[in-house]
Amino acid sequence: MQITLIPALSDNYIFLLHDPQQNIAAVVDPAEAEPVLERLAELKAHLVAIFNTHHHIDHIGGNSKLLQHFKQAKVYGGAEDRGRIHGQQVFLQEGDRVQFANREAEVLFVPGHTRAHIAYYFEPEQAGETGELFCGDTLFAGGCGRLLEGNPVQMVDSLSKLRSLPDNTRVWCAHEYTLKNLQFALTVDSSNLELKSRFTEVKAVRSKSQATIPSMLEVEKRTNPFLRWDQPTLQSAVKSYEPVQTFARLRGMKDRF
Ligand code: ZN
Ligand code: FE
Repeated sequence: MQITLIPALSDNYIFLLHDPQQNIAAVVDPAEAEPVLERLAELKAHLVAIFNTHHHIDHIGGNSKLLQHFKQAKVYGGAEDRGRIHGQQVFLQEGDRVQFANREAEVLFVPGHTRAHIAYYFEPEQAGETGELFCGDTLFAGGCGRLLEGNPVQMVDSLSKLRSLPDNTRVWCAHEYTLKNLQFALTVDSSNLELKSRFTEVKAVRSKSQATIPSMLEVEKRTNPFLRWDQPTLQSAVKSYEPVQTFARLRGMKDRF
């Protein structure tokens, strides 16, 4: 399975999964259809699946048009999103499994950004290879999604699930927010040397307009404040020693940043 990233709208990423042997493809969160159709034409690949993480228009905007071109493509989304995702045929819950080509993903229910949000985690094909996490707007590189339909209790639970995945997992999040996220992270975790060097790297990457996605989960665990509610430095930065409250205060500060 080859994964390519397609920039869309102002700061979204669409992910294309491609199996060259069978000439089939799947797409994660198609914000729009045109760039996906172009890429499929270049690859001469047939779209068999649309994996949606949640119902926001910048994640499902391309569903209808893609379905017009590939009528037999199956549309996957969270069970709680029933009625909100165009063309949805598969209603997924925590622990369900989905397949693409020779790979299998576990579905994680990760409410918080929305009440129905799910993530797809493709386990490594062989020992030593990376796992692939498609987490929509739940976990971002250096940050996390806003709480639009959920609360801090849910989001801490959701991010705990993602944090418990293996270090060797690539994080394919749906927006290029990394630089701004790390700017905020430095205000609450300024003594974190790895965070400082990550910020320098990301600044260089963005100055060339390149993508900072995917990131490694191992790096997120050490530098993303929204996975670090139990670290003393962050706890003292927000003057709270209770995990949900620490997270909620960090999220509130970021909302106003
Ligand atoms: Zn969203
Ligand atoms: Fe989004």
